[in-house]
Amino acid sequence: MDHVSFTACLRFLDLLEQGRVPSLHETAAFIRACAPDCGERSLPEKEQALLRMELFARARVAAGRTFGRRIYVRGLIEISSFCMRSCLYCGIRAGNAQAVRFRLSPEEIYACCAKGYGLGFRTFVLQGGEDPWFSDERLCAIVRRIRERWPDCAVTLSVGERPRSSYMRLREAGADRYLLRHETADPEHYARLHPPAQAWSDRVRCLRDLKACGYQTGAGFMVGSPWQDSMCLAKDLAFLAELRPEMAGIGPFIPQSQTPLAGFPAGSVTRTLVMIALTRLVLPTAMLPSTTALATASAVGREQGILAGANVVMPNLSPAEARRHYTLYDNKLAEGPECADQLEALKRRMAAIGYEISTERGDHPAFRPQRSSHV
Ligand code: SF4
Repeated sequence: MDHVSFTACLRFLDLLEQGRVPSLHETAAFIRACAPDCGERSLPEKEQALLRMELFARARVAAGRTFGRRIYVRGLIEISSFCMRSCLYCGIRAGNAQAVRFRLSPEEIYACCAKGYGLGFRTFVLQGGEDPWFSDERLCAIVRRIRERWPDCAVTLSVGERPRSSYMRLREAGADRYLLRHETADPEHYARLHPPAQAWSDRVRCLRDLKACGYQTGAGFMVGSPWQDSMCLAKDLAFLAELRPEMAGIGPFIPQSQTPLAGFPAGSVTRTLVMIALTRLVLPTAMLPSTTALATASAVGREQGILAGANVVMPNLSPAEARRHYTLYDNKLAEGPECADQLEALKRRMAAIGYEISTERGDHPAFRPQRSSHV
């Protein structure tokens, strides 16, 4: 499908819907047809727009089959801005001497959970840099305590690469889900975005370990990161099709001014939406967040993500001070509907596009003890 036509693109969508995985070349050609990068050969603009409408409509239908019009909420708690790694794109990388470092105490974390529970959240996402202070022992104790105090809630961890034994201990302590974006499925591209000590093979090993330990596992990637082309994105989609994670977070690359990648342009919102929709067709029952990065890049990004097939939003439950200093990228939204206090505003915005916020735990269908009636 190197020479793209509108009809060939529709056939490509049919294939995806039938559960077939097209070749990398076909996928890359479709991505170029829908949302070309500067200078890439593509369809006329009108046809591109029509194709995106068709793609998003099919993605919404696919999401609706499993989730109806429900959007699941997760309360995000940013527990630490200390990190011993140095991903080139990240504002809290170890190498950034200007980053303000903070770490929530266990009591502060429980206070966030208590507030979130009162607001209706039934999933808490504990996210942080790779901070050695959060040893297995400490983190297990925190997870156990949360599960004891709020037994009807799920705990998601997002604290980076750890040994398999650590993932197992945390799982046994009660953690249900784990987010670890793969960031790019092209090993050479991965090597350009990370220092030599961080290997693509380690990232993949962690993701496979998480699956083996029984987590609902989340992968995901940035769209528009430096040196990424359509073929890289095609590899991301093929990787997801093979790994079959239960969750996938996809957001545009947004440069952070204190990082080595500060001078690169932000990723395209349109391309990000196309990748969310394609992921929905490849993983029809996955939990796909409409990410904060998307909401940061576009005033209506949150809604656009949902209309492209996403079914999860993650408002921020962290204390205001922590929100301010968890600067993964520039201008990261931390107020308004991004803030958990504003859940009512978020409900109104979702209702305006025909969706309703669900306060269920929102497990992946394969992990629900009993399928709900809308499945
Ligand atoms: S992306 Fe994660 S692991 Fe990498 S530097 Fe940032 S917080 Fe650390």
